[in-house]
Amino acid sequence: MDEPATDGAGRRPLRVVHERGAVDLTAAEAAARAFLLALGVSLDSESLRATPARMARAYGEMFSPRPFELTTFPNDEGYDELVLARSIPVQSVCEHHLLPFTGVAHVGYLPGGRILGLSKLARVVEMFARRPQVQERLTQQVAGWLQDQLAPRGVGVVIEAEHLCMTLRGVRAVGASTVTSALQGVLRTDPGSRAEFFALAGPRFRQETSAR
Ligand code: ZN
Repeated sequence: MDEPATDGAGRRPLRVVHERGAVDLTAAEAAARAFLLALGVSLDSESLRATPARMARAYGEMFSPRPFELTTFPNDEGYDELVLARSIPVQSVCEHHLLPFTGVAHVGYLPGGRILGLSKLARVVEMFARRPQVQERLTQQVAGWLQDQLAPRGVGVVIEAEHLCMTLRGVRAVGASTVTSALQGVLRTDPGSRAEFFALAGPRFRQETSAR
C-alpha cells in the first residue's frame, strides 16, 4: 500500500473507508414491519406504530461506524515501551442472532517509527464493531488493522464482552463474559513482552481474583 502524504506538521492523515452497502431505511422499515407481524406482534397501538421505523434506524446506526482520520505522529522521543488504552467500550451485534454484545477492549502497541493519537484506538474498535460481527474476528481485525496501518513492533488486543444471545436465550448464562485476544509482532513472539501485555491488559477477572 502507498504511504499517504504527510502534512506540514509531520502528521499522516489517512481517511478511513470501510466496506459496506448503503442503508435503505425505507426497505429496512418495511422488512421490520413484516418481521414483527410474522412474530405475532401487533403494531396497532400508538406506541408500537413507529417501531418498525425505529428498528430500522437503530440497526442502521449500529451498522454505521463514524468515518475518521487515522493521524499518526513521528516517534521523535523514541518511546519504546507499551502504549495501552484500557477499557475502551465495545458495542457490537453478533452476526448469528443480531443481538448486541457489549463490553470493553484493551488495545496496546509497542511503537515503531510512529505513534498514534490515543483516541484513535477507540475509533478503530468502533470501526470494526459497528457491523454484524463475531467477537473473535473483531479482536483479530483490530489487531491486524493496527499492525498494517501503523507498522508498530507489536500489537495486542483483549476484548471482554457479554453476549445477549447467551444471556437472554439459549443457555441464559447471565453474567457470563467471553474473553478473546489477538497478538501481533513482538507481543506474539517474545514471551516477556507477551507476559507484560497480559499483566496490564489481562481480563478483569484476573485483577478481581488477585485483589482478594
Ligand atoms: Zn449470537
